[in-house]
Amino acid sequence: MRFSRLLVPTTKETPNDATLASHIYLIRGGFIQSVGGSGLYNFLPLGKKVLDKVRAVVKEELDKAGCQEVSLSFVTPSSLWEESGRYEKYGKELLRFKDRKNNEFVLGPTHEEMMVNLVRQTVKSYKQLPLNLYQINLKFRDEIRPRFGLMRGREFLMKDGYSFHTSSEDMKREFDLMEKTYKKIFTRLGLEFRVVEADSGAIGGSGSKEFMVLADSGEDTIVVCEGCDYGANIEAAVAKPKSCDTDTEIKVVTMKALYDEGKTKYIGYMLPADIELQDVKACNAVGANDLVECEEQETVSMMVIDETLKSLQSGNELGAQEVYYADISSVSEGDSCAVCGGILRYTKGIEAGHIFQLGTQYSEPLGCTFLDENGKAQPMVMGTYGIGVSRLLAAIIEQNHDDKGCIWTKESAPFDLHIIISNIKDEAQLALGETLYEAMQKKGVDVLLDDRKDRFGAKMKDYELVGVPHAVVIGKKLSDGLVEFITRDGLIKEEISSDEILTLLTERF
Ligand code: ATP
Ligand code: MG
Repeated sequence: MRFSRLLVPTTKETPNDATLASHIYLIRGGFIQSVGGSGLYNFLPLGKKVLDKVRAVVKEELDKAGCQEVSLSFVTPSSLWEESGRYEKYGKELLRFKDRKNNEFVLGPTHEEMMVNLVRQTVKSYKQLPLNLYQINLKFRDEIRPRFGLMRGREFLMKDGYSFHTSSEDMKREFDLMEKTYKKIFTRLGLEFRVVEADSGAIGGSGSKEFMVLADSGEDTIVVCEGCDYGANIEAAVAKPKSCDTDTEIKVVTMKALYDEGKTKYIGYMLPADIELQDVKACNAVGANDLVECEEQETVSMMVIDETLKSLQSGNELGAQEVYYADISSVSEGDSCAVCGGILRYTKGIEAGHIFQLGTQYSEPLGCTFLDENGKAQPMVMGTYGIGVSRLLAAIIEQNHDDKGCIWTKESAPFDLHIIISNIKDEAQLALGETLYEAMQKKGVDVLLDDRKDRFGAKMKDYELVGVPHAVVIGKKLSDGLVEFITRDGLIKEEISSDEILTLLTERF
């Protein structure tokens, strides 16, 4: 591609609402364009190229693992969401609307219902299972605070996969295969990441793992062990229980739990005074949709006691109507690892993927069944697997940038090689640029040739901002028989003889 023909509106201006490097550089580098400043983006040619490259890596690895790609309608009939019971629960993130005939629809924020509907109509027998179907398609979530560019958009590209099985054992086998496959995907994309235990919502259990791209700017706090490879989202992290005795000071935190149809309940959470209540655990413990703070003096109808106090407190002394025990405590830095006793630390991560052992949560209400070997109808056992494909662009840049711009990794880069002709009026420079451009293209290398009339300084700034992994600069020194080979990561410059540059490029690419 010739830079002179390419639509890359690079700019020095930092967008007002941008604080993260990825947001700033993706806009300044002409990859994406904000639409009305509310979590909607257009992908310009460079952004679309990167998106397609990331998408291709995701697709290749999934296909190798035996998954099949489909494409589901983005507009989803509300009736399917009513069948699963999520229509009410999902809240305001779900964009609901009516067509001219007054039929109700939603824009899919995730597609469990749609995929289950596809499968229940096409799969009848155990002989057709297992099955892993995925799509790489748009999602819409009317996020309350869209921000950080592609990191938290309202419309975004997700890979969402769903697997269907005759048994939990088979679903777990697939879950492990997806974990391995995701590791390959993130490794190929050049990311430093960690697989962590995640909150599985009200379902509980260890059936959910997140793929966290490590970055200080990440919105998620993850707990990692210094001694072993234990890692968990803070929402799901556990530490080795501290020993409590009768002297342990105890506190009760009162919260208001919100349920479907506007129902509420006041809950008292009892835990050691020096431990913070973990909100997500506390919410799951009572099966609520959300928890909000409330006045301490509210009379509680339910008491939840932290598991560590089990031996000390018996519920019936407390006078509440219902008493439960659950893990509701936060893990603090310095706590001991429950696996190896090592020291636990906090770090920040960007959730780039999430895999989930679903069970029959959707197949049962939606009647997605198969006939087993004895001809008996059984609900299919499901897994679900997501990757934030457009969020990955932001994650790659969060991990790979400097104060000048993007540093794309090999498999995500918009081009393999960037050739800069310093002065296109210089015939020798132009001729060498064109020769290298043609030769490399013939080899199948994706090359960007900067053949613009602009000043060298401006071209170099654009190179640094756009961040292709390697460049050749053909400049003044060509009259001494020299060109420059640049590695974007670290801006390492090597002087190479102009007679040898083609051989060097042929070797390296
Ligand atoms: P988060 O906790 O960041 O809101 P989530 O847990 O709601 O994400 P999932 O339902 O697990 O998200 O969706 C699968 C993947 O889609 C996530 O792992 C993430 O990478 C991506 N994703 C979710 N919400 C957004 C968004 N608003 N913008 C871009 N990507 C998103
Ligand atoms: Mg998630």
